Amino acid sequence: MEIDFNDKVIIVTGSGRGIGREIAESFTKNGATVIISDYSTESLIEAENLFKTKGYSFKAIPCDVTNREDVQNLIDLTYKEFGKIDVLINNAGITKDNLILRMKDEQWDSVIETNLKGVFLTTRASIKYFLKQRYGKIINISSVVGITGNIGQSNYSASKAGIIGFSKSIARELAIRNITVNIVAPGFIDTPMTSVLPDGVKENFIKKIPLKRMGTPTDIANIVLFIASPLADYITGQVINVDGGMVM
Ligand code: NAP
Repeated sequence: MEIDFNDKVIIVTGSGRGIGREIAESFTKNGATVIISDYSTESLIEAENLFKTKGYSFKAIPCDVTNREDVQNLIDLTYKEFGKIDVLINNAGITKDNLILRMKDEQWDSVIETNLKGVFLTTRASIKYFLKQRYGKIINISSVVGITGNIGQSNYSASKAGIIGFSKSIARELAIRNITVNIVAPGFIDTPMTSVLPDGVKENFIKKIPLKRMGTPTDIANIVLFIASPLADYITGQVINVDGGMVM
């Protein structure tokens, strides 16, 4: 998709690999300056090298979204260097699956901390700048399992459903200041997160997808580009499923 993002400053959390990296790359290809960030230095350095080789306009800032200081640093450094933040994309996320009977406190807590509290921390840290600008777009990556639930993913589903409630609440709070907040709910996407699943599990998932294929990170990046663009200025508080028709 081609949309002009020249002079736009976009932050993508968890963009060292997978969907986040693809989103970041799509924005740079369309003229934006992207702040890539990740908690794993290894992933971030890999993305940094790739972006340098391709000549993209970017800055890499390490950030663990569960760490308040890291988050503040990510947002403040971006604003200090570029003088604005146009779009915040909360993409960082993890899974730690287990059946409820065996779910450990650590599995519950870490998934909620990363997937849900992380979104709260980055949003809260960036709001003062968005309010000052009287403009901004926040795009939160949830999941269709936040809508449907999924066996073995009570922690993950709760975190992703939480993102939806959180986003709709702040969409209402911030609309008056020309700040939009939307949610993208991917279905079953081919990334390092899903590559660990056994082939049989993948085949079973694909059988349930009307379009009969896994999604690609580009399928997600395309909708994110659209929501971040002026074409979507009148859209806020919406959940957009990108899932090959899994959830209708
Ligand atoms: P991925 O390949 O595992 O990438 C997730 C990225 O987030 C990784 O770069 C990871 O860093 C980073 N991350 C994890 N914890 C972090 C933290 N505390 N602070 C900062 N970064 C952190 O997963 P993905 O498939 O691209 O998923 C991206 C988003 O889409 C997630 O929110 C996920 O829940 C959502 N989603 C994915 C699917 C799917 O089928 N793939 C479906 C629905 C929703 P490391 O490289 O160090 O691990």
